[in-house]
Amino acid sequence: MLEITGVERRFSATHAVQGVSLTVWPGEVTCLLGPSGCGKSTTLRMIAGIEQLDAGEIRIDGRPVADARRNVPPEMRPVGMVFQDLALFPHMTVAANVGFGLSRARQGSGEVRHLLERVGLAHHADKYPHQLSGGEQQRIALVRALATQPRVMLLDEPFSSLDQRLRVEMRELALDLLREAGTAVVLVTHDSDEAMMMADRIAIMHGGRIRQEGTPLELYQQPVDLAVAGFFSELN
Ligand code: ATP
Ligand code: MG
Repeated sequence: MLEITGVERRFSATHAVQGVSLTVWPGEVTCLLGPSGCGKSTTLRMIAGIEQLDAGEIRIDGRPVADARRNVPPEMRPVGMVFQDLALFPHMTVAANVGFGLSRARQGSGEVRHLLERVGLAHHADKYPHQLSGGEQQRIALVRALATQPRVMLLDEPFSSLDQRLRVEMRELALDLLREAGTAVVLVTHDSDEAMMMADRIAIMHGGRIRQEGTPLELYQQPVDLAVAGFFSELN
């Protein structure tokens, strides 16, 4: 379980994240929605450990990983990430990318091959990232993140660079894989369709704060203000 309590982050004059609290259970997808600059990526970076907290606390499965004084380094956290600019290692093959971070025993166990088969890319194992399409790279980035069996998975607009058809396919594949893994998921998206399709819960952010948090139906039926309602109006 991911527990975020009263998390804050300032950049000189910008109060990027202000008192954000959020709980995500294993197997649950929470979507962060909100306008550009409202603090979504900063929140994810704090959960990942690549951004320091100014206040508040983050716990994973009850274990504190970050507060204003402590910051467990990213590689020591059971957290997987897929961001828009995937960052596969360009000098490593697909198989080496997926195996990165696995123990030698697990690398030799056929696990990498199994994961690649799961997303239909086993035949690309020995290729390099630049030899794959955007959608294929995205699938590799997702299985690479899942390979380490993270307790928390962070997705920051992972499908936004794909065309509409691929995007819909990727949402379905990602949901299947994430449900199977039983990990707590935080998904950042600009796309309210994507949120409605993938989210168990939605948190609407504005100006560094969470305006409203609840199930998609709760937010749709009882938005607290126009900013929240605005996200759903395009679905009417
Ligand atoms: P987008 O939808 O455009 O990706 P976002 O919700 O992810 O936006 P953040 O990247 O979290 O927004 O940024 C929140 C605010 O913090 C913005 O005003 C941004 O300019 C500022 N900010 C983020 N990172 C830094 C940084 N390293 N230094 C200074 N300001 C930053
Ligand atoms: Mg962002």
